[in-house]
Amino acid sequence: MTTFNFGAGPAILPQAVLEQAKAEIFDWQGSAVSLFEIPFGDAAFSDVIETTRKALRSLLKLPDTHHLLFLQGGAYAHFAFVAMNLLKDRKRACYFKTGHWSDRAIAQASKYGEIVVDRIVSDAAYCHITTNETTQGRQFHQFPDPQGLPLVADVTSDFLTRPIDFSLFDLIYASAQKNVAPAGLSLVILHEKLFDRALEITPRVFNYTEQARNKSRLNTPNVMGIYMAGLMAKWVSDQGGLSEMARRSQQKSALLYDVIDNSRFFENCVTMQMRSHVNVCFGLKDDALNDLFLQQAQAAGLLHLKGHAKGAPLRASLYNALPLSGVVALAEFIDRFDARLNKVP
Ligand code: PMP
Repeated sequence: MTTFNFGAGPAILPQAVLEQAKAEIFDWQGSAVSLFEIPFGDAAFSDVIETTRKALRSLLKLPDTHHLLFLQGGAYAHFAFVAMNLLKDRKRACYFKTGHWSDRAIAQASKYGEIVVDRIVSDAAYCHITTNETTQGRQFHQFPDPQGLPLVADVTSDFLTRPIDFSLFDLIYASAQKNVAPAGLSLVILHEKLFDRALEITPRVFNYTEQARNKSRLNTPNVMGIYMAGLMAKWVSDQGGLSEMARRSQQKSALLYDVIDNSRFFENCVTMQMRSHVNVCFGLKDDALNDLFLQQAQAAGLLHLKGHAKGAPLRASLYNALPLSGVVALAEFIDRFDARLNKVP
């Protein structure tokens, strides 16, 4: 049976990327040594990290002002590290509260400074947004004007699903496990104008300026994650790049929103302008039917459609590696489920 993985993360990776990794993990470029066994100071590892850096920089069209860091911790850890790295001189920061992940970002950042919610104050160190709320299925398609403050974004769940205009963003960060690599790698991209703004208490390996100056090699980096990120960047580029990923995300999500909107029994509660092209959160109006839907979907090979506890009961994550055929299969499944309910007297 063909299966499709709609999980929100760790998420589906392209088969071709997994196949290549399988071969190279055992024998790194004919050296008879596994990729995982190469010391991180070795020239072979320098090649891996530089290849990934180059591939991602080129895919993102990253200007020279912006440094790309390969760190660990996950975005949840960076909720705190972002604040620690920016609040040295100015003690306030502005956060847009859009859902579960911005709530968590605010809770962490507020340990290090005063957080102003949903408005801009001119003496703040930065303005923070969550570009795509994975849990609620809400995405910014136009970004708020930070009124001269550095704009910082958690882009965890829509990174590499659309182009990013780096004239707008001064710092972005993401966990890798949606569109970039397996879990365990965090990507941080920061403008050098934000260097040297870290609080004294910032752990050295999470001091963004120090890591930028040391090319992310202050301590042992996530070798597997960096390697996989390089393969993924190449895969996205071979598929047509970020504009093509945006076109596909739009096409896949439109198909799903359309069946949901045309059903009497399913609903999506996100306002049109904020509907995510990546995480479609929906549910049956009769909550008692959501479990039945999940069971039948799983039996039909449509996997991991359960929503987050803080969001709608159902969620389809449509990351880059999920083919259009998977979304067509899900849309048809929803249609059939809907038709059966229509027949119930
Ligand atoms: N931000 C967003 C938008 C997310 O979707 C997630 C994970 N789903 C996180 C932050 C947290 O990532 P992690 O669990 O890797 O720390």
